[in-house]
Amino acid sequence: GRVDNPYAGAKVYVNPEWSARAAAEPGGSRVSSRPTAVWLDRIATIDGVNGAMGLRDHLDAALRQKGSGDLVVQLVVYDLPGRDCAALASNGELGPDDIDKYKSDYIDPIASILADPAYASLRIATIIEPDSLPNLVTNGGGTDTSTAACETMKSNGNYEKGVSYALQKLGAIPNVYNYVDAAHHGWLGWDTNLGPAVQEFHKVATTNGADVHDVAGFIVNTANYSATTEPYLKVGDTVNGTSVRQSKWVDWDQYVDEQSYALALRSQLVSAGFDSGIGMLIDTSRNGWGGTARPTGPGPLTSVDDYVNGSRTDRRIHVGNWCNQSGAGLGERPTAAPAAGVDAYVWAKPPGESDGSSTAIANDEGKGFDRMCDPTYGGNARNGNNPTGALANAPLAGHWFSAQFQQLMQNAYPPL
Ligand code: BGC
Repeated sequence: GRVDNPYAGAKVYVNPEWSARAAAEPGGSRVSSRPTAVWLDRIATIDGVNGAMGLRDHLDAALRQKGSGDLVVQLVVYDLPGRDCAALASNGELGPDDIDKYKSDYIDPIASILADPAYASLRIATIIEPDSLPNLVTNGGGTDTSTAACETMKSNGNYEKGVSYALQKLGAIPNVYNYVDAAHHGWLGWDTNLGPAVQEFHKVATTNGADVHDVAGFIVNTANYSATTEPYLKVGDTVNGTSVRQSKWVDWDQYVDEQSYALALRSQLVSAGFDSGIGMLIDTSRNGWGGTARPTGPGPLTSVDDYVNGSRTDRRIHVGNWCNQSGAGLGERPTAAPAAGVDAYVWAKPPGESDGSSTAIANDEGKGFDRMCDPTYGGNARNGNNPTGALANAPLAGHWFSAQFQQLMQNAYPPL
């Protein structure tokens, strides 16, 4: 049977392929033995793309790393039909209507490998379909942030069917722990988004054969840059009687960091009917915000904007910026049970892998060019029409981006 927190008392799988890329970078040996998730971002990744390790290769390597103790393998399940509907950088191989192919050619083969008794001693944490359900909640229609592609995925129901199917198939395997992606505080942190999101998560976990017991927990900040905790800024702070929620940066959000968001979300999910034992994961791979630009104390009390801008460690131009953020650093190293209700800090996004290309690059992966990855772009409705803050010269999403990796190490917090 499952344990309450699979990370407790366990090692976490170090992906040898990521580790080798990190180790090949000057200074990279300082981080190359850290665990990162394996992204199954195409059907071909199950067998291994162009000689790279496939799923069985990873699980076999995981058994070797495990030895006689316990070990968690982290897999990101990421190939929904019409993937990445509010952006272009990680559009995938399956069209909006390819739900049958998603089930038969992607989820079923993954499930049959994970159910192999040879792997029964591994603890397998699956991160389910980043951004998909959050996109249905905020970008599926009726708001200025919606996109035609997300409206399609909302009306055809294929994100919901796909996620339910994944939860049900993978949740039937006793050593699999499903963690559903729940965006980050700067996306769902407003009450008007969070309530509907909780309802959406519950709906998907209780339809099409899925059950709340198929869900071990939720992950926040996957591949994003929101700080785990803001040491000098709390949402309850006021400046001369004005709430920081009224600042331009916070913009009425109910949360200013990921840990407060994760814990509040957790209690709402339990109230909605999820198991009281669910645990949260926080992706801390790139939310460190160290280096010379990091504040060392609270900002000045001259105005609410001065205070917030001087206090916040998250140095983004806007909290909606998500692509290859300039100035970011590695965050907390992967840690089990860092706080009550948090199963682990994890590195879900492998540091050094691009979020998207900064110019159009032809490819056979389905990846598009999203101008949120272009440092010269003035933004869209989802980032308040602000500059993107993206690094230049970025390769396709998922491809190695040496300059970004170097900056992430340089701005690590805690420092390396
Ligand atoms: C990309 C995937 C990649 C993942 C991890 C995503 O943005 O679309 O192809 O595997 O990031 O780097």
